[in-house]
Amino acid sequence: MTRSSSRRLGPATRAIHAGGSEPVPGAPVVPPIVQSSTFFGGSGAPDEELRYTRYGNNPNQEVLAVKLSAMEGTEDALAVGSGMAATALTLLALTRSGDHVVASSRLYGTTRHFLEEELPRRGVESTLVDAEDPSAWGEAIRDETRLLFMEVPTNPTLRVFDLRPVARLAHEAGIVLAVDATFASPVNLRPVEHGADVVIHSATKFLGGHSDLIAGVAAGSRSFVAELRTMLKLYGPALDPHAAWLLDRGLRTLGARMAGHNANALGLARWLEEQPEVATVVHPGLESHPDHALAREILDGFGGLVAFVLESGEAADRFCRSLEVALMAPSLGGVETLVSQPRHTSHVHMSPGDRAAAGIPDGFVRVSVGLEDLDDLQADFRQALDRC
Ligand SMILES: *Cc1c(COP(=O)(O)O)cnc(C)c1O
Repeated sequence: MTRSSSRRLGPATRAIHAGGSEPVPGAPVVPPIVQSSTFFGGSGAPDEELRYTRYGNNPNQEVLAVKLSAMEGTEDALAVGSGMAATALTLLALTRSGDHVVASSRLYGTTRHFLEEELPRRGVESTLVDAEDPSAWGEAIRDETRLLFMEVPTNPTLRVFDLRPVARLAHEAGIVLAVDATFASPVNLRPVEHGADVVIHSATKFLGGHSDLIAGVAAGSRSFVAELRTMLKLYGPALDPHAAWLLDRGLRTLGARMAGHNANALGLARWLEEQPEVATVVHPGLESHPDHALAREILDGFGGLVAFVLESGEAADRFCRSLEVALMAPSLGGVETLVSQPRHTSHVHMSPGDRAAAGIPDGFVRVSVGLEDLDDLQADFRQALDRC
C-alpha cells in the first residue's frame, strides 16, 4: 500500500491493508494462495534471491511479514509454523553457548520448558524472576545475559506487568526485551511502543481467530529477523502457504473481532461478579484486578479472557460439563467461547498448593470469551451455575 499522507494508520486499518497488492486493474483484491514449494530461478545470477517455501519467502508468507511488521511497528517480521516455533527460533537466534536469559516465571508452560530443559542442552542458562519486581530483573542480569523475556498479559491470571522498566534495564545492559503478547494481540497492545525490541505471538490464537490454524509470529529489527530466517532455514518450521493465507484472512477482521472480544469479556466479567456462586472474577478491566490501573494505561482493550473461581474443583467440573453454548477445550482467541481448567491443562503438573499460591486454586475456570451474543453466554453460564 503506497500512500502520500504520513498520518499513522490505526492497527485495524493496518491489519486489513498492509502488505496488500498494488491496486492495478484486473489484479485480485485478495492475494491468491501460492501453493508452491518452489519457484523458477536458480540461474546463479549474483543478485538472485532463491525463493523456497521453507525459507519464509513464499508470497503468502511475505504478505504476512509486511502486514505484521506494520501492525507491530517493527522493521521486519516473520510468520512461522506455530507460536512455539516463533518462541524457539527467537531464543535460538539470540543466544549462543555460554549465554544467559532472564525470563518472567509466569510463562506459557512450553516456553518455560524450553528455557529450563532445552536451552541448557545448548549451553544456555536461564533465570526465572518475579516479573512484578523490576529489581528482581536487575539482580538477575549478568554479563552473559543476552535477552529478557516476558508475557503480557499472563496465563491464566491475566496479570499485566509493566514492560517499561524491564525495557530500560535491557537497554542499559545493551540487550533486548522480547515480549510474548499473544493474549493481547496488536490491537490491544503493541509492546514496541513501550520499549520492547522483539514481539512474539501464537497466531493460532487471536490473530488467526477462528481456531482453524497453527501459526506463530516474531517481529523486531531487520537484523534480528535476518537471524530468525537463518534459524528457519536450519530448523525448518515453515508456515504452509494455505495456513499463511488463512492467517492473512483472519487478520483482516482482527480489529472488529478484538472489539467484540473486549466488549463481551468485560460484559461477562461484570455479570459474573454478580452471581452468588462465583467467589472471584479475574479480568484486567475490573477495578478489583491488581493491575487494573496499569492495564488502563498500556492496553487499548482488556482482552477476551476472563477467569473465575467456583467453590471447588468438582463444582468447576460440573459447570464446564453443563455448558451448552460455550465449549470445553484448551486454547483461546477464536470466535467460539471456550472454557478450560488450568488444573487439567496448562498447570496439571503443579501441586494444588503451588497452584493456589500462583493464584489458581481448584475451582478456577478460564474462559476465552468468543463473539456470541452476550445474553446467550450469560444464559448459558447461568444454567450451568444452577447445575453445579
Ligand atoms: C498458545 C501459546 C503459545 C504457543 O503457541 P502454539 O501456536 O500453540 O505453538 C505461546 N505463548 C502463549 C502465550 C500461548 O498462549
